[in-house]
Amino acid sequence: MTIATVPTAHQLIGGAWVEAASGATYIDENPATGAALAAVPESSAHDVALAVGAARTAFEHGKWATMPASRRAKILYKIAQRIGERADELALLEVRDNGKTIATAKGELGAIVETFEFYAGAATKNYGETLPGPMPTYVAYTTREPVGVVGAIVPWNFPLLLASWKVAPALAAGCTIVLKPAPTTPLTALELGKIALECGLPEGVLNIVTGSTRELGQAIVDHPGIDKIAFTGSTVTGKLVAASAAKTVKRVTLELGGKSPSIVFDDADVEAAVAGALYGIYYNAGQTCEARSRVLLHEKIADAFIAAFVERAKKLVVGNPEDPKTHIGAISVREQFEKITSYCAIGAGEGATRLLGGEPAPVAAGLAGGMFWSATAFEARPDHRIAREEIFGPVASFMRFRDEADAVALANDSEYGLSASVWTQNLGRAHRVAKALRSGTVAINTPYAVFPGVPFGGYKQSGYGREQASETMRLYSETKSVLIYTGEKPINPYGV
Ligand code: NAD
Repeated sequence: MTIATVPTAHQLIGGAWVEAASGATYIDENPATGAALAAVPESSAHDVALAVGAARTAFEHGKWATMPASRRAKILYKIAQRIGERADELALLEVRDNGKTIATAKGELGAIVETFEFYAGAATKNYGETLPGPMPTYVAYTTREPVGVVGAIVPWNFPLLLASWKVAPALAAGCTIVLKPAPTTPLTALELGKIALECGLPEGVLNIVTGSTRELGQAIVDHPGIDKIAFTGSTVTGKLVAASAAKTVKRVTLELGGKSPSIVFDDADVEAAVAGALYGIYYNAGQTCEARSRVLLHEKIADAFIAAFVERAKKLVVGNPEDPKTHIGAISVREQFEKITSYCAIGAGEGATRLLGGEPAPVAAGLAGGMFWSATAFEARPDHRIAREEIFGPVASFMRFRDEADAVALANDSEYGLSASVWTQNLGRAHRVAKALRSGTVAINTPYAVFPGVPFGGYKQSGYGREQASETMRLYSETKSVLIYTGEKPINPYGV
């Protein structure tokens, strides 16, 4: 496709599909081929101000925030249903925009439908509490009210999924939204906007602004008309977001980076652990915040595990994301490809032993314009940078431990704490280790740990707040305390 024939996308502000106010666009590309996909509005702080204005008007003067929750729920159910009907088409669009495999994208579409269904149910259960009266002559209760206008900022690795993790609970709670997709993956978020309007979401409740600059996200964080920032992205950017948001005392939730472990004990089903650890790191080409990028092995089984892992990893197909047989698709953004390249060189330079990969993957001629990295594994030391820093690519670091205490210490020796998998047949050990790990999620004998209804979020520098759960509703709500004096005698504190 030449740039001249590329379709033009529009962004959603106040129920209208519009260009950037400046008329500027940038080109969004398919990372597997380098082909141009769309000319996308290149917005600025001015467009953000228009979107915030629309969201503020919809919040303060529209019907959404005060509508019975059961009616909001109906619209959320409709959105879930419509996404389900269009799942195949949306999955393919995600594949072309992001470079992930079609199998992965289809799985995500299923999870997106369930996310909207989950929050449709949660909308009517955002309960307040009846409180014990603070004095005999008092009745006290709390209500939950929508927090206001939400600025939702998402990364490129799970574009529509992570947008739905924010949009669905915000809508369920009665908030209005300014959503900013990542620069390289805006297309499915824009489709979500179309679906939401078709399903009866009032104009201005969901606004979507696009652009390629970091200033755009910053403008959302800085805007005084926004009440809460729901951010998913890197820990570096998350810290900037938290610091900027503090200037206007915005509520903030942060889902940030990770360096999560797969911990394999000598009593584990090693075959199952190998299969799980492979998926844990190579799923979505390792561009996953909860990627199990550290594989911690009991010294007794380490050699056998590594041999089996390497043998199986060599069978993984890297290449055409649109082929259902592909396991590892494209690296989604240029900077990420360069980061992976540089970390593999750092690993080799600091003395880690390369066991597999460490180089761009050979692919078919039609994909020559794309970015592909081979399944990679190193044996590393805990002080190596590749074993400590988030690479966000298909790069595993193996390390060995002596006993359970050593495994827990090694797993917790990280500035991150997002997720962990533990492989053991010993029930007592499974619970002991789950308790000892400083991690938002612990998955025993499974690499799958992210489901609607199960809180997801980080300890330590992996962020704060939980998504995907009933408790998430509180993070899109304010608690209002109501106190009623029921005594017969009027209160007259000064007695005058
Ligand atoms: P990033 O932090 O560079 O960008 C994330 C989003 O923030 C993008 O939309 C970007 O345009 C925007 N942004 C950039 N600068 C900003 C600023 N100053 N103010 C406000 N917004 C700004 O991250 P990325 O490279 O797009 O995504 C990869 C990172 O996301 C990884 O570190 C990964 O671990 C993390 N991630 C975390 C989770 C989780 O749930 N914990 C999930 C997915 C990805």
